[in-house]
Amino acid sequence: MIETHTLNDGHHLPALGFGTYPLRGPAGVESVAGALRQGYRLIDSAVNYENEGTVGEAIRRSGVPREEIVVTSKLPGRHHAYAAATTCVYESLYRLGLESIDLYLIHWPNPFADHYVEAWQALVDLQRAGVLRSIGTSNFLPEHLSRIVAATGVTPAVNQVELHPYFPQAEQRDVHDQLGIRTESWGPLGQAGQLLHEPVITAVAGELGRTPAQVVLRWHLQLGSVPLPKAASPGRQAENLAVFDFELDEAQVAAITALGRLDGRLGDSDPGTHEEF
Ligand code: NDP
Repeated sequence: MIETHTLNDGHHLPALGFGTYPLRGPAGVESVAGALRQGYRLIDSAVNYENEGTVGEAIRRSGVPREEIVVTSKLPGRHHAYAAATTCVYESLYRLGLESIDLYLIHWPNPFADHYVEAWQALVDLQRAGVLRSIGTSNFLPEHLSRIVAATGVTPAVNQVELHPYFPQAEQRDVHDQLGIRTESWGPLGQAGQLLHEPVITAVAGELGRTPAQVVLRWHLQLGSVPLPKAASPGRQAENLAVFDFELDEAQVAAITALGRLDGRLGDSDPGTHEEF
């Protein structure tokens, strides 16, 4: 059973979700439907993943009641202008085949293009109209967050950011805590690179009789951030879900956090300069 958080708008968010990039097509439907049947209830999609149709089909085939599932999608940079953002949300709905979307995020702030404030206003208005249940952001730095809150009076329920032991984002998480924003972690397993072979992590895994991926996911849960691991196969999906029946002690959490580095991002993904359309 997955624990849940209560968001600043009163809605619930599972404490762990399922990443869907780059799952699509028939194999993607099978994978996402399988994840739902195993117990995942938070599904992370985006317009730019080109798999909202896959996610909608997987929901229908899974047999899991729609109201139990929190579906996320994200607004791409090319649709930040107010009217374009509004249309984009409706196109997401049509592709998903749903009546409303549970969580819709602005995917990247794209600060040089500088249309993210009107994109946020569009999401605020769509939430008021009942089309979107919860709204939030992704890859927003503190300065982007304060600007949209000042402009609209509405604080994002969620900010989804790159977060893993190489990049623990302590300052960003502090800002989220002060504003009442729930953090979600993308790339939670460090995209399955060197991270899962780090001696600190494999040692803790050995002590607890868990896998390195489970230890890393447990670390996210204990930071209070919602990890969104992507795993194509049923075996890894089950492994990543089995993290609610053990705990890391404070020293283990601290040792894993100490893997963090200022340049610990996985790629060229600093939201102050990186833009995606
Ligand atoms: P992850 O850290 O989730 O790593 C995914 C990789 O880990 C895959 O190669 C997967 O392989 C492998 N893996 C999964 N489980 C295990 C395991 N138990 N042991 C070993 N390897 C494992 O990175 P992602 O970049 O996929 O991030 C997760 C999600 O976050 C994405 O799917 C997407 O939904 C979201 N995201 C959001 C971004 C944003 O800008 N907002 C940016 C990037 C991602 P396999 O599938 O073959 O098992």
